[in-house]
Amino acid sequence: MMKGRVTFAGAGPGDPGLITIKAKVALENADAVLYDYLAHPNLLTNCKSSAELINVGKRKGYHSQTQEAINELMVKLAQQGKHIVRLKGGDPCVFGRIGEEMECLTHHNIPFDIIPGVTSAIAVPAYAGIPITQRDVSRSFAVITATPQDGESTENIHIPNAETLVFLMPVTQLEILVKRIVTEIDHFTPDTPVALIYRGTTSSQKTLLGTLATIVDLKNQHHLNPPAILVVGEVAKLTQKYNWTENLPLFGKRVILLRTAEQAQEWITPLSELGAEVVQLPMIEIVPQQDADKQISKEGIQKFSWIIFTSTNGVKQWMSALFKNQQDVRALAHLKIAAIGTKTASVLKDYGLVPDIIPQEFSQEGLLDALPTTLSGQTFLIATAAGARDVLPTQLKTRGAAVEVWHLYTTKMPTILSTQEIKDGDIVIFTSSSTVTHFFESRVWNHQAITAICIGKTTEATLKESYQGPIAVSPKSTINDTINILLNTAGNVNDRSTSPSI
Ligand code: SAH
Repeated sequence: MMKGRVTFAGAGPGDPGLITIKAKVALENADAVLYDYLAHPNLLTNCKSSAELINVGKRKGYHSQTQEAINELMVKLAQQGKHIVRLKGGDPCVFGRIGEEMECLTHHNIPFDIIPGVTSAIAVPAYAGIPITQRDVSRSFAVITATPQDGESTENIHIPNAETLVFLMPVTQLEILVKRIVTEIDHFTPDTPVALIYRGTTSSQKTLLGTLATIVDLKNQHHLNPPAILVVGEVAKLTQKYNWTENLPLFGKRVILLRTAEQAQEWITPLSELGAEVVQLPMIEIVPQQDADKQISKEGIQKFSWIIFTSTNGVKQWMSALFKNQQDVRALAHLKIAAIGTKTASVLKDYGLVPDIIPQEFSQEGLLDALPTTLSGQTFLIATAAGARDVLPTQLKTRGAAVEVWHLYTTKMPTILSTQEIKDGDIVIFTSSSTVTHFFESRVWNHQAITAICIGKTTEATLKESYQGPIAVSPKSTINDTINILLNTAGNVNDRSTSPSI
C-alpha cells in the first residue's frame, strides 16, 4: 500500500495573515486538508483545485466529527498515498489534541511533521494591546486550559504561580475560575485587572476589561460566548491605552472580495492595515481555452494590425500560450496594442510591452472613444474572455475595421465552502459584471444586509438587475479610489460605539 503523510500545521488565531510561510506552502501543495471551524476560509483559497477540503470542526451545538473519526479519516487518506495537511487553530501543540493524532499515525506507521503556528494565547492579547510580559510588571506567564478535558471540571486544574495567567476556554467556568485565582494565588486580589477577549484578531474582536471581582458580571452583561481568552495580571489593563486594533478605521468590518486568490492579495494588505477583515470569496476560476492557444504565434497573428487586451487574465493567458508555442513578444512587433485599463497595461509591461492606447474610462466604450473614428483597412484582434460584451467588435466594424474575437478563456464558479458565508453588515466589492452574475448564481446571498461597492458603471448596471439596495460606485478600478469610497461609505468615524455588539 502506498503511504502518504500528514503535516500538522498551525492556522494562527484568526487573522489569516498570521499563518506561517511554511504552512501556507504546505496548504498550496496538499492533496487533502482537514481543518477546524476557526480556520479562516482565506487560508484554503490557494489550495490545488483537486485538493479535498474537509471541515472536521468541533463546535458546540453543531454536528462535528469525533476525535476517533478524524483519526480514521487521516489514516484512510494517508494510506491512499495523499499528503494531508491537518490545519489546527493557533499552534497545533497548544491544547490541540495533537498527541492523540500523532499516536494514531505512529501506530499505523504514517510519517508526519509539525509546522508550529501563532498561538492565540499570545497573539490575541497582542491584538488587544496587551503584551503578556512587561518590564517591572510581569516577568513570567503561564498558559492554562480552563476546560481540561471533555466534561472534566475546572476544580481539577492546577493554577500556576506566574505574574500573567492566560486561560484558554475560560468562558463556561469563569465564575469558579476567578474565585480560585483570588483564593489560591497570593499576588492576585479581587482588584487585579483582567481582560476577556472574544474572537481576537478577527473583525468580531471584543475586549472586556475588568477585575477578578467584576469580570463575571461584565461577561454576562455583554453576553460573551466562546471562543475567548482570559488574561489575568497587571498587563491586562494596558489594553485601555494600547488597544490598537479596535480603534482602526475599518475595525469590525468584513470586506468580501470576489476576486481570484491571485488578484486578491493586493487588496488584502491595505484593507487589513485599515483594520478590516478580508474574506476571499472568489467567484471566478479561469479556464483556458485550448483551441485559441494554438493560433497564438507570429504566423497566426500576421494579418492583424491591432490587438486589444480586455483583462489582465487575457494578457496572462496570451503570454503563456505564446511561450508554450516556443515564441516571445517579438511575435507582436508589427501590432499596435490597446489595453482596456491601467491594470491590463501594467501586466503587459511586466512582459516588456507598452500599450499604444489606454482609455480614460476603463470600459469597452472608453476604449472606443480613445480609438480613431475611421478604421478602414485595419484588422483588429480582440483577445478576451468567452461571454464578454460585443460592443467593441460591433462598433469597430461600423468604423470600417475587420475584427476577430479570440476567446482565450472562460470563467467558471469555484466551489464555495460552508465557512465562506455572507453575514449581515458585510461589505461586498463587485469588481466586474461576471463577478456580479456569479455572486447571485452561487446563492451565497440570501438577502443579508450588505454594503455594496461597485467598480465601474457597467458593473453597477449589472448589479442593479439583481439588487435593489444602495450601491456605492467607484468610477476607476484603482484600489486607492475604491478604498476611499469604502471608508466614506462604511468607515468608523473614530467612534468606539460603532464596534459590533456580540
Ligand atoms: N491551539 C490553539 C488553542 C486551541 S484551544 C492555539 O494555539 O491558539 C481553543 C481555545 O483557544 C478557544 O476556546 C479559545 O479559548 C482560544 N482561542 C483560539 N482562537 C481564539 C481567538 N481568536 N480569540 C480568542 N480566543 C481564541
